[in-house]
This record gives sequence, structure tokens and C-alpha cells, in this order.
Amino acid sequence: MYAEAIPGWNVFKQIFTEHWEGFKPFRPRYHTPYYDDLVDKMLRCGNPDQIGYIEYRCLHCGQGKHRVAMSCKSSLCLRCAKVYVDNWVAQVGKMLHDGVIYRHIVLTVPDVLRTPFYQHAEALLSPFMQCGVQCLDDFFRTVSGKALRGGYIVVVQTHGRNGRYNPHLHCIATSGGWDAQAHKWVHLGYLPYPMLHKKWQWYVLEMCRETLKTDAMTRLVQACYAKYPNGFVANVQKGDVPSRYQSLATYLAKYVVSPPISLRRIDGYDGQSVTYHYRSHKTERVERERVDVYTFIGRMIQHVLPKGFQRIRYYGVQATKTFAKIKGLIQAALAKVRGIVKGAIKIIAAQSYRERYRQSSGHDPLRCPHCHHEMDVWKVWHPKYGVVYDELEVMRRGRYASTGRSTSG
Ligand SMILES: [Zn+2]
Ligand SMILES: [Zn+2]
Repeated sequence: MYAEAIPGWNVFKQIFTEHWEGFKPFRPRYHTPYYDDLVDKMLRCGNPDQIGYIEYRCLHCGQGKHRVAMSCKSSLCLRCAKVYVDNWVAQVGKMLHDGVIYRHIVLTVPDVLRTPFYQHAEALLSPFMQCGVQCLDDFFRTVSGKALRGGYIVVVQTHGRNGRYNPHLHCIATSGGWDAQAHKWVHLGYLPYPMLHKKWQWYVLEMCRETLKTDAMTRLVQACYAKYPNGFVANVQKGDVPSRYQSLATYLAKYVVSPPISLRRIDGYDGQSVTYHYRSHKTERVERERVDVYTFIGRMIQHVLPKGFQRIRYYGVQATKTFAKIKGLIQAALAKVRGIVKGAIKIIAAQSYRERYRQSSGHDPLRCPHCHHEMDVWKVWHPKYGVVYDELEVMRRGRYASTGRSTSG
């Protein structure tokens, strides 16, 4: 519901206000009502009279008043990104199981595949996620010699640190899986990474070949096998992630749901070009980049996923009721493994607007500044539907005394 003011936000909006119309003919792919709507919502975000609001009033002394602008929920909106991250952490946090060892595995594609992925995002991104899971299942099966069913949370990310197109998967994978035949959980402590690189290469290349079925892709696939005899990069976080980090979900959020170029990284805009910085993976140093304004818009918008696309997906035992059923068995099996930190994964509840506000401003927004009583929802206004809730109307209808009013945001 709420997002705080962020430095750079006005510059970001100014860039889109001044150049979105000019950008569209330049990149016709984005000349659609879908993208227009995302930009429009983002530009109106933070303005209560344009985006809608909830108004709180003190019903005790009648003086206190507080208005909360609704969030635009546009995937392009960096103002709402913090809200998005909080929700993401809460969602993933719920799916992580106490005491289970997870690994954070990043599956990447080489440079030569980035352009085809960009051009065919709609066709390739879903099978891309699917084949990451197939690859890991196959990998665990090969390593253990048994048909194991692991649990996976997969998130697709399309940008690298510099904002360029660089599709990759973040997989939160159980370290091992369920052996249905033996009815037990098999933990894999050692993973031979070179094997994973080769397997990942095979899965992703065959997926590309089969999905696109073009001569160009077939040639590219052949070239990739020849050029990368050791497979594709699959980074496995060393050690057990949960034992090193108090909250796996929070740790992941940093990597996974960060915007392509964060507002804090925008250093300058002169009407024609934008300067920003990022920390490079390769050099581990802060790099600066100056790009013309259309390139900048392109770097932001190219990462908007196809309409309705599910960015986070759950696979294997993670996705089913099986997991709840076998959880006890998993934990019993893992208890025998040395070095597990019990309860290392902290489940974080979704932060309400009120908590976020309190955290950033230091005071409770829903407490009347005059009499210090809690304020109540007075009015909810939406630009399309008008007033959707009106306390005065509720009073008139005589339901006032019996209303169980909620004061949380
Ligand atoms: Zn927004
Ligand atoms: Zn009051």
C-alpha cells in the first residue's frame, strides 16, 4: 500500500515522462497498450488523487487525518519495489521449511544465447525454468544412483548487475530428495559441479532447440557445444546457505528481486543521457556507465516479464502436499547429518504498510497526533471505481456501533 520517497525517483519519472513517446517508435516491440499501461501507472504512482488512497481519521477527537496512496503495482515502478520485495520475502519464507538444507544454485547461459532469449522471451522463459528443474533432478539422480524427487523454488531473472539482458535462474533446491521406493529422504552432501555444468548445458541447449525449431537455433546449439566443452556456468553457493544467513529469504531477495538498475545507482541525467553505477561481478569493483536515454529506458523495460508470467515457481516435493507429509522424515534424516543449524531459516511475516512506515519514519502513522488514539479507515477512493468505502455512509446506515473495524494497514 505504501512506498517511501526514494532519492532518484523524480529523475526516473522525468526520464519516462520526457522520452517514453519517443522511445516507442524506436523499439516497436514495446509499442503496446500493456507497456503503455505499466508506464502510465508508474508515473501516477505516489499521487493519491491519481492512483487512489485510503484515508484514516481519528474518530475520537475528530482532528487526526492520514492519507495513504495505493501502490501502482506496475512491475516497472521502483517506488513500489520495496513493497514487492517484502511480499516476496514473505511468500518465499512461507515455503521454506525449518531444518531442511537448501542450496542456492544459479544457472546461467553464455553471451551468445542472450539475444535469442530476449527475442523469444515469451516462448523460452517458461521452458527455461522447467528445464532447470529437470536438470537438477537428473543431477541428483545421477549423483545418488536413485530416483530422487527434490524440492525447488525457481525464480527467473533477466538482468545482470549492469542492467543488460542476462537471463538466469535462481534455484533454491533441497540438497537431495525423496526416495519414494525406499521411503526415505536422501541428503547429498557432496555435489560434483563439473557434472552439473555439463548437464545444465545439455538441458538448456536441447530446450532451446526443441522450443524454437529454427535452423538458426540448431546452428547456434551446435556452436555452443563446440565452444563450451566444459558446459555452462552453474554457481553453487558454497556451504549451506541457511547456516550462514539468518534469513534465507531476505538474503535471496537481494539477489533475486532487485531492479535492473536501482534508483540509488542513478548518478545523473542531462536530458539526453543517463549515468549510473553498479558493482561488477567480473572485476568486483564499482563500474560507471553512461548511456543515451533510449538505451536506459530499454534496459529497464526489457526486464518486464510477459503479461501474467509467474516469476516464482515451485516444483517437485516443494510444490505438493507430499512435503508436509514427509517433513518429519526429512528432518529425522537431516538430524543425522553433521553441521546443520536447526531452525536457521527465519520465516518473516509480511510487513504491513504501518510497520514499514514506522520503520522508516520512526512514528506510527495510524495514531492520532492530537489525542494519540488509533485512527480508523474513513474513506477508500479508487480512480476508476470512486469511493469504495465511506465510513460516513456506514454511520448513516446505522451499522456503526457493530462494525468490527480493523486498524491495521
Ligand atoms: Zn508504484
Ligand atoms: Zn485524535
